[in-house]
Amino acid sequence: MTIRYRPVAVAGAARAGILQTAHGSVETPTFMPVGTTATVKAMTADAVRETGAAIVLGNTYHLMLRPGADRVAALGGLHRFMDWPGTILTDSGGFQVMSLAKLRKMDADGVMFQSHLDGSTHRLTPARSIEIQHKLDATISMVLDECTPFPATEEQARLSMEMSSRWAARSREAFLDRPGYGLFGIVQGGVFPGLRAASAGALTDIGFDGYAIGGLAVGEGQAAMFGVLDATIPLLPTDRARYLMGVGTPDDIVGAVQRGVDMFDCVIPTRAGRTARAYTAEGVFNLRNARFADDAAPLDPCCRCLACNRHSRGYLHHLFRAGEMLGPMLLTWHNLTYYQDLMRGLRAAIIADRLDVHAAALRADWMGREPSGELT
Ligand SMILES: [Zn+2]
Repeated sequence: MTIRYRPVAVAGAARAGILQTAHGSVETPTFMPVGTTATVKAMTADAVRETGAAIVLGNTYHLMLRPGADRVAALGGLHRFMDWPGTILTDSGGFQVMSLAKLRKMDADGVMFQSHLDGSTHRLTPARSIEIQHKLDATISMVLDECTPFPATEEQARLSMEMSSRWAARSREAFLDRPGYGLFGIVQGGVFPGLRAASAGALTDIGFDGYAIGGLAVGEGQAAMFGVLDATIPLLPTDRARYLMGVGTPDDIVGAVQRGVDMFDCVIPTRAGRTARAYTAEGVFNLRNARFADDAAPLDPCCRCLACNRHSRGYLHHLFRAGEMLGPMLLTWHNLTYYQDLMRGLRAAIIADRLDVHAAALRADWMGREPSGELT
């Protein structure tokens, strides 16, 4: 084993565990803040640590284009480069190639694309992606796959999944095992349970240090996403971590934890923090709303973050209205703290064997204000 995952408690399909890596131990379920270009936007590394995060995500596509994997390696690797000695997971780059790059051309062995920054031409193959992630010194690398577009016919999803399975095998061959470092496979197959099962079978035959579930949160809706988790997770080994990629809202995360997911990443808390949207125990607030202009109360009285302890809603409202950069900084800090505390609460509830009661109470509080959970 290169990365160890050990469950410490189970509650139904949910589990609490420990992921042990070369860069520390991570209590699961866990949320990974997204550090796209070697920075969690608007946050110092110390601030990210203070929120309680034990693992962050970096994006291979962005880092290979700027500043470049060789430069990151020469500057001491991603941990030193971004002052994050803890565990780092990098994606394969494939998702951003499909969503950001210009003039993509896919073939059986990889994808040619033009940088969205300067139009320069690059090629990503399973082996090349693994080589770049190695240079970055990612603790956890991801296989190169194709995120099956949504909607897709079952035949399109099957062809895409089968190519991803072949690329997963090539990624595994290219990955150099080192103690405490690992490679995760990615289950694909769209919304089709049979394809998800075939993908999970192919990946577990190859053998990975953890298993991600990809191709979700692309427009299929929460019910379909949960359906895929129900069909997929029982097929994955219990002694490996499970990672749901790119998900999601607090409600998505609670439902996925109840179905057995251990790891999450999403831009929601950081992106929302830059656009005045606050995630709280009482739902989502838009701090630009004029109703907060004279509000002396803390954003979330239950929250331990700097924004909630030292400032009023009225001050945060003012910062966003005035276009001050401290607004996005404080609100990102709050949202990441909220997500980390959400994960800690879920973990404690699993260990205490009261997850369903805890989840129902969370949902009741979120819905307390408006059916959408959002005040505008
Ligand atoms: Zn707060």
